[in-house]
Amino acid sequence: MSIVSNRLVRGQLLHFLADPGMGDDPAAWQFFDDGGLWIRDGRIQAAGPWAALTAALPPGVGESATVHDYRGHLVLPGFVDCHLHYPQAGVIASYGRQLLDWLNDYVFPAEARFADASEAERSAAFVVDRLLAHGTTTASVFATVHPHSVDAFFAAAEARGLRMLCGKVLMDRNCPPDLRDTAAGGMADSLRLIERWHGRGRLRYSLTPRFAPTSSPEQLRLCGELLNSQPGLHLQTHLAENPCELDWVRQLFPTRGSYLDVYQHYGLAGPRSLHAHCIHLDAAERRSLAAGGAAAAFCPGSNLFLGSGFFNLDASREAGLRVGLATDIGAGTGFSLLRSLAQAYEVGQALGAPLPALRGFYLATLGGARALYLDDCIGSFQPGREADFIALDWAATPELAWRMERCQTLAERLFALMMLGDERCVVATHVMGEVAFVR
Ligand SMILES: [Zn+2]
Repeated sequence: MSIVSNRLVRGQLLHFLADPGMGDDPAAWQFFDDGGLWIRDGRIQAAGPWAALTAALPPGVGESATVHDYRGHLVLPGFVDCHLHYPQAGVIASYGRQLLDWLNDYVFPAEARFADASEAERSAAFVVDRLLAHGTTTASVFATVHPHSVDAFFAAAEARGLRMLCGKVLMDRNCPPDLRDTAAGGMADSLRLIERWHGRGRLRYSLTPRFAPTSSPEQLRLCGELLNSQPGLHLQTHLAENPCELDWVRQLFPTRGSYLDVYQHYGLAGPRSLHAHCIHLDAAERRSLAAGGAAAAFCPGSNLFLGSGFFNLDASREAGLRVGLATDIGAGTGFSLLRSLAQAYEVGQALGAPLPALRGFYLATLGGARALYLDDCIGSFQPGREADFIALDWAATPELAWRMERCQTLAERLFALMMLGDERCVVATHVMGEVAFVR
């Protein structure tokens, strides 16, 4: 006989059913000022107004349930960080380079240190715990070229019960010799890791060619074959981040029409493929990427830090592209998706399209889940979803408290939270209903 676990959560509930767009479409989101969640065996059973939800509970459930009282706090689905590199946590805030020099001067030496498995294990535990402290419950994560770096990350995620994507970096040219694999060796390593981790509990494998310049055509070809040979595998890479990178790709792949065409040619731009950055694309390329089913990770902090350019969120939505929000640690300067939302707003302002708060919180939750093709599991409080959620303190700092006292509407409060908030706002993080972090 199995024992059913029931939890009730009370707080100011907000979740999304669709992208609310630039006009805060009221059909796209639900807010319950005195809201309740009923969680059964780690999954959402119901969400709604507290009084109605508790009145409709079957006999005995209310009495036996564990109650989490977050009244006065905002309860949201856990944040989804669509793109980060866990081995780069130690080179966040490295001065003065753009993408290609930054990789050579800071990132490759840091990733080379992951030849030491204990460095990978300590880093994985640190990063996963910091993600939870920042309210992030799912991420799409690059490891290094070393297979044991993937083992370390998945083991840390599994120990905390998290839904995570990760993969071994594939890189067989244009990188230091100690970080170089081979086309065949990279596939054999990936296959072993897929067998070990893909679909184990909440974990899924993501094939991870770093970007076109560091993979030979043969490596990209084999990667596409492997990706399309097994249903449910994911892919993560980088696309159109920096103008010098674009020139380099043109030289390396002279017979391909564009950077995007390189990935499309090898079958690396379909459903469950996530392309970080996607800054320097034209309208036709955005439409083509969207039509294939691939998604873009919007990394505003990273793009500002490396001087890469401004991602056009509005044009991407017009093209029908799936977009998630991401920190891109370690080019991003922190783990907080609240801080990323503030940066996304500033990028939008530079393009004449300031990001509305509701759309911002959609991006950080359901938008990210949709970009990763995980919205059937996470990202909202719809029945059956896994109960990963966070409680946020509207007034975590004196500045937030001062501002909140002067806000009239929910949209105003959310906007102040996304501009002024950070990890200090995270009161608690729950994973499959259970408390995983408390402030
Ligand atoms: Zn990246």
